[in-house]
Amino acid sequence: MDKEKYQDDDLLEVFDIKDRIAINKDKIISQESNERFLNSIMDNYFLDNDNIIFLQEHGYAIFYFDDNESCICGSNKKYQDCHKKLLKSQGENYITYAEALNNDQDYNEYLNINKILIDNISQAYINTAKCNFLDCDRMVIKTSLVDDKKWLTSIKVNYIDTKLTIGNDFFINKVDKILECNSFCLEHNDVLKKMNNWKSSFFLSSAFTLQRNTIIFNFALSEFENKFNSIKSDGYKALMIYHLRKLKQEFKSSLLQIERIRNAWKTNDFSDFKLHNWKIDKVKNQNFQCSDFFYPQIMPENFETVNSVNNPLTNIYNGFVFNEFIDHEIMSTFVWHKDDDKITKFMNQWIQKIKTDNEVRHFISNVCLILSNVILFDENYYSKLTKDEQILNSALSKFRFETPKMGQEYIKMKFFAGFDSGNDLF
Ligand SMILES: [Zn+2]
Ligand SMILES: [Zn+2]
Repeated sequence: MDKEKYQDDDLLEVFDIKDRIAINKDKIISQESNERFLNSIMDNYFLDNDNIIFLQEHGYAIFYFDDNESCICGSNKKYQDCHKKLLKSQGENYITYAEALNNDQDYNEYLNINKILIDNISQAYINTAKCNFLDCDRMVIKTSLVDDKKWLTSIKVNYIDTKLTIGNDFFINKVDKILECNSFCLEHNDVLKKMNNWKSSFFLSSAFTLQRNTIIFNFALSEFENKFNSIKSDGYKALMIYHLRKLKQEFKSSLLQIERIRNAWKTNDFSDFKLHNWKIDKVKNQNFQCSDFFYPQIMPENFETVNSVNNPLTNIYNGFVFNEFIDHEIMSTFVWHKDDDKITKFMNQWIQKIKTDNEVRHFISNVCLILSNVILFDENYYSKLTKDEQILNSALSKFRFETPKMGQEYIKMKFFAGFDSGNDLF
């Protein structure tokens, strides 16, 4: 991957969504009600595939690329001079991810067709990636993010296999390949692993997230280039663009984080990062592990949006949580960058809101379980939960769906009702 070309801060233009609305001439409802309708949809927490298809088919062409927009690939060319020209017509109907979700046969076919592509992209990444540590240009080595203990995780080996159905248990045995990190050279990998503090953990997680996002984004871009013209329905085309935009934002946000932490490491000055610690004593057991980014959605006091699941056009804000178990205590460290106003506000509101030890336990549990990507459960602990508890944990851990499928209204309500009074994993 050519890192330089992605470092342009102007990679993604944040623009006014309303500018993107093309309304059908024969629409009966007035401009004013159109606007109200659109605003209410975009304010809604979750925009599912039906909403997007509906909007697209009724003339709300929010999810297309503008000819003069800088290309989605980050080449700094205009879209019309870059990927628009590269789009291929294959004269066949291609099943999109969103369509494939409708039945198992199509879904398996989708995975089979694309597994080869994602494997190739992953291998190309591994073969060419340079160490992410400072200015090191040695080749990366393969390492695992987690220790040898038996853990369960909801992450799958195949990055593109993200089909999850509410009512199922998503947690599977951690195999090394799932949390394989190819981001540092041998020497720097050792440096980071031996330190075992939030700084090294933050760096490892950032690098792992960047690796995943690079591979997934490159896959999506390739799928777009090769298959887009074979997709018949405008609605499914809109979904593909929606997805690509969201991936681009995630990619951009992980690049930003790794840049920030690399710079802090260079000068040994982490003062641009803000920190908040919570300590919990008399921990029942070390039944789960999480040192990962978290992606808040809503402020707890004024319900302002932090990250919108709906809007793939705005920046993504994340913080980092690091749990350290020492004897029967846990020290939980929350880290975020001072420039991320929304995370600062989110954390400040929670710090004000949390008054008791129990609330701290629930808050940390829920940040790990609901707002983070990588949570690991101890196998023994997890096997003793009831089936219902396993299913609820599964649903909560994938609450922040990457794909606009499955209206999770029930889970959403559970989330807001129980965020600081629900889960105590300690
Ligand atoms: Zn392009
Ligand atoms: Zn290195």
